[in-house]
Amino acid sequence: MKSQLNDPFNRTIEYLRLSVTDRCDLRCSYCMPKGFKDFETPENWLTFDEISRVIGAFGELGVKRIRLTGGEPLVRKGVADLSKQLIQLPGIEDLSLSTNAVQLERFAQPLFDAGVARLNVSLDTLNPEKFKEITGGGKLDKVIKGLIKAKAVGFKPIKLNMVALKGINDDEIFDMVDFCREHGFTLRFIETMPMGDTGRNSPDQFMSVDEIKAQLTERYELIPGFVPGGGPANYMQIVGSDIKLGFITPITQHFCETCNRVRLSVDGTLYMCLGQDHSFELRPLLRQGISDEGLKEAIIEAIALKPLKHEFNENPEKVVRFMSSTGG
Ligand code: SAM
Ligand code: SF4
Repeated sequence: MKSQLNDPFNRTIEYLRLSVTDRCDLRCSYCMPKGFKDFETPENWLTFDEISRVIGAFGELGVKRIRLTGGEPLVRKGVADLSKQLIQLPGIEDLSLSTNAVQLERFAQPLFDAGVARLNVSLDTLNPEKFKEITGGGKLDKVIKGLIKAKAVGFKPIKLNMVALKGINDDEIFDMVDFCREHGFTLRFIETMPMGDTGRNSPDQFMSVDEIKAQLTERYELIPGFVPGGGPANYMQIVGSDIKLGFITPITQHFCETCNRVRLSVDGTLYMCLGQDHSFELRPLLRQGISDEGLKEAIIEAIALKPLKHEFNENPEKVVRFMSSTGG
């Protein structure tokens, strides 16, 4: 079924990113402040049954793809059970997960068995000391073990997301390419977005995708490639190798005109855009006993609020939410 969710700019919404928690076991420098603890209280978390109702309504409206994210989704208890519940909902065809992989060794098999098909893993460095520095104390070996396990249980593709930061990890771009080549992972580069103080606090570290490509083309010949996923990444392939490289350019070349997604945060707020405040609260409606039809109408009403584009360049101070609280 084609999605019935069309926004005021003729874009069809067919993808929902679901933040199952705003908590995280890491504190990446560009995402969440060190020592941050001001999280949503558990009474305000949507329960798994409430999440299933909302996703069920999206499924009936034609949304087929769901990505579980956070914060760190694996810190919420029972995410594999939730996955099993969601993949059975009519209309939902594709369930994927974004994770920092710290707990992936333990959860890879249950997630795979539950029907999660694809994984995105954040990894910015292969140097344990630097990993500790960037993530506020994380242990790299756990992430590597998680990745190896995920590959062994059969996840494919596994995409690694690297936020390249000048003077921090920009000397590791080739090491990351080699690592991904060795393991058959796809490597994607993401430009830092000015979300919250953390996303803006080191403008001198910002690295554009053009600068990354310039490094890569010193060593490799790149040709256009394709990787399924429905997201905003542009893919290239290194000539003579299977590895795919993805480039995500929210800052230097925004892709708002093809935006096909909205985000549901752990407290039941639908966010229409990462880089804007337009939102719609579903939790009060759910807890007041709204009917299934009413819920679908509310979602349609919410989609009508979707703004044309983010203003990360024109108005970089605008978004005070951290990426982790919206559901990146
Ligand atoms: N914890 C999971 C993880 O790290 O993959 C899922 C949530 S995390 C918020 C999702 C993605 O957002 C990660 O790939 C992370 O690198 C990215 N991210 C966080 N803050 C960002 C920022 N300010 N600019 C660009 N990407 C950011
Ligand atoms: Fe946690 Fe992911 Fe944010 Fe890092 S990027 S602090 S792992 S939510």
